[in-house]
Amino acid sequence: MSKKYVYKFSEGNKDMRELLGGKGANLAEMTAAGMPVPQGFTVTTEACTRYYDDGRAIAPEIQEEIMQNLTWLEELNGKKFGDPTNPLLVSVRSGARASMPGMMDTILNLGLNDVAVEGFAKKTGNPRFAYDSYRRFIQMFSDVVMELSKKRFEEIIDDVKAKKGVKLDVDLDAEDMKQLVVLFKEFYKKEKGEEFPQDPKVQLMEAVKAVFRSWDNPRANVYRRMNEIPYDWGTAVNVQTMVFGNSGSNSGTGVAFTRNPATGEKALFGEYLINAQGEDVVAGVRTPSPISKLHEEMPAVYDQFAEIADRLEKHYKDMQDMEFTIEDGKLYMLQTRNGKRTAAAALKVAVDLVDEGMIDEKEAVLRVEPKQLDSLLHPQFDADALKKAAVVGKGLAASPGAACGKVVFTAEEAKEWHERGEKIVLVRLETSPEDIEGMQVAQGILTVRGGMTSHAAVVARGMGTCCVSGCGEIVVDYDKKCFTLAGKTYKEGDWISIDGSTGNIYGEAIKTVPADPSSGPFGRFMAWADKYRQLQVYTNADNPRDAKQGYDFGAQGIGLCRTEHMFFEGDRIKAIREMIVSENAEERAKALAKIMPLQQGDFEGIYEEMKGQPVVIRFLDPPLHEFVPTKEEDIVDLAKEMGITVDRLHEIINGLHEVNPMMGHRGCRLAVAYPEIAEMQTAAVINAAINVQKKHPDWKMVPEIMIPLVGEVKELKFVKDVVVKTADAIIAQSGIDMKYEVGTMIEIPRAALTAGEIAKEAEFFSFGTNDLTQMTFGFSRDDAGKFLGYYYDEKIYESDPFAHLDQTGVGQLVEMAAKAGKATRPSIHMGICGEHGGDPTSVEFCHNVGLNYVSCSPFRVPIARLAAAQAAIKNPR
Ligand code: PEP
Ligand code: MG
Repeated sequence: MSKKYVYKFSEGNKDMRELLGGKGANLAEMTAAGMPVPQGFTVTTEACTRYYDDGRAIAPEIQEEIMQNLTWLEELNGKKFGDPTNPLLVSVRSGARASMPGMMDTILNLGLNDVAVEGFAKKTGNPRFAYDSYRRFIQMFSDVVMELSKKRFEEIIDDVKAKKGVKLDVDLDAEDMKQLVVLFKEFYKKEKGEEFPQDPKVQLMEAVKAVFRSWDNPRANVYRRMNEIPYDWGTAVNVQTMVFGNSGSNSGTGVAFTRNPATGEKALFGEYLINAQGEDVVAGVRTPSPISKLHEEMPAVYDQFAEIADRLEKHYKDMQDMEFTIEDGKLYMLQTRNGKRTAAAALKVAVDLVDEGMIDEKEAVLRVEPKQLDSLLHPQFDADALKKAAVVGKGLAASPGAACGKVVFTAEEAKEWHERGEKIVLVRLETSPEDIEGMQVAQGILTVRGGMTSHAAVVARGMGTCCVSGCGEIVVDYDKKCFTLAGKTYKEGDWISIDGSTGNIYGEAIKTVPADPSSGPFGRFMAWADKYRQLQVYTNADNPRDAKQGYDFGAQGIGLCRTEHMFFEGDRIKAIREMIVSENAEERAKALAKIMPLQQGDFEGIYEEMKGQPVVIRFLDPPLHEFVPTKEEDIVDLAKEMGITVDRLHEIINGLHEVNPMMGHRGCRLAVAYPEIAEMQTAAVINAAINVQKKHPDWKMVPEIMIPLVGEVKELKFVKDVVVKTADAIIAQSGIDMKYEVGTMIEIPRAALTAGEIAKEAEFFSFGTNDLTQMTFGFSRDDAGKFLGYYYDEKIYESDPFAHLDQTGVGQLVEMAAKAGKATRPSIHMGICGEHGGDPTSVEFCHNVGLNYVSCSPFRVPIARLAAAQAAIKNPR
């Protein structure tokens, strides 16, 4: 039997989301549960993939299948496509496997043409409504399918209103709508050189193609990259009988959640608009009423909806986000899906569902997106500073957190200002999906229009970005780049602060303080995560402050202390520069003598903060170009310090110049050339550990020394011998018995390839996936950003391999090296300390290849803890 590309809603179920997309699968599930769903059919994600494989064309057999289903739908409804007396109208909507709100396209009222509109007018007895629907359809079809500018249509409407002397769309009557249809069609013909398509079957096929195409539009591509949704998933298309929320005052449309998506509180939460259609609520163009008001306006409909909402939540065992339409007092369900929610709400819902007996702890752990925790870990306003600040306006508390930044008005400016290192708040009338990149870099988002389910609110919540929406008192002037609020004008670049938890707006900068994630159900939830994970989570920290932060966030050790980083602060850089430009052992010894006490002090501070937990200290790995002085004043300073002439120092610096510093004299190569560096660092580590051990006899200090950038076992052995000789001598003298370990980073492909040999010397491995990625791909970690954009555009790479581990290539090296290391030395312990250690999908990979720990920056520790738990629950090992 040939493959089936189209499924009626009555033929699917919720487990078919890969094929039918989330929307299609849930429409099928609701249909099966006997809920009032306008019927229709789903064109599968496989049809979308096939569309792309066939060079962006819908194969004849798929077209035929669509048409057969259309005939079925006509019979079911007793209506016909394009019928002069009783025409069938449908909506055509995208629906990918993972929900991508607002990213792809939707077309409503499809099936209207010059004849059908007459039939529709007669059938409904409402010509204004019929012609309004037709003009909306022409507008949407032209925009989505034909890519004509939306703005031009709005201008035509404005002209008609101006001529009539009215302000609002509702003041236009049937004749005006008829006139709009004529004007729209004229405009269409002028632009496209052909008449507006009158054959509904052509309209349908073009619309399906447009939805497939929208899978590849720029905003969908950005969203996918952000959310790691693979390109080859494709989207399904749902063709559904239209119901009309705009057919009069006994009709309406709305969106609602079964729990509050901002706080997780258990109560129906949402909003609706009377006499409105489809996207009006989500687009935030009119400000809707809260769902509780529906209880007063249409009690029976409200009760029915509340009952369905409750059933759906129990059925899916998760908070639902539903779209509904009321047509002439009759309720229809248009969609249900697991609702997007803030991190705070996600934790509360997960914990509440366990308490309500709906799910178990493991399931709860799987319910929270690890990356979402980020927003709980981010700043809030300083309470004292906030007391002094004056509220100048209020909008809806759309996405919690505090933001303080300079005002910008466009997504482009947001990006530019952000690249210049500015903190910004993006102020918009309303946001649309094109704004996504600007929203991503903004500290906060403030909109004039739109409710809690508007684009700005939904997207900001998903990103964990603070957002205040729907502040109607703001008057924005995009041309003059300013807005006024409470009698004051704010220009581009002025500071404002917004509170996404209260909706308050402040016309000034307010200090922020770090978040306190231990409040609310965070602790209880994270304890479940810790119970189920098998990976240890360490932190990368180069100073006592970061060590403390990591420890407080639950790190079980330090996986990477980059010793050269200690020298970025204050005056310390001079000491390390002096060491780098030293010409002989004597000068170097002088410089090292300055460095040694600073290092030892830092190590003691770090050991104290970690309270006896493992701490891996990596020996110097300074890519020279990051440290050699370049500013003339620094060079003059350093020459003076070293007692040499400025010219001489220039000569030395020129001599150190490397064509390829990332592959230059760094890592263990420094210690091979100058073993005294390794001696000094060993002494600093061991002395610090001994001092701390003496102070805290109950801690078991086992210092771990890590040699970087090893590619050959003999170079590791060479440096290790220096370490062992120095350490043993110091320990023998100290009078205490202390064990220590020497290990290495696996960050050069050759090290991965010869890991079995290297493990003869290394007591532990730490995968440095930053360098390993750089050297496996052969592109510079500092420069790849300049050209990776082209690779994303061409779908050669779908995501940044420095952010998400390339499991196929680099991952293979990791897996192979881990196996070989273990085969040589079964007791070897292994972790990862590159940036990938805090990336959820990379953490899952580390779990699967059997590493012992991941190490990441302090703020990502909770994310890694949760990602590790999810990996263990999904793939027990
Ligand atoms: C690495 O290369 O992955 C690593 C952790 O070291 P660095 O980033 O310091 O080179
Ligand atoms: Mg490295």
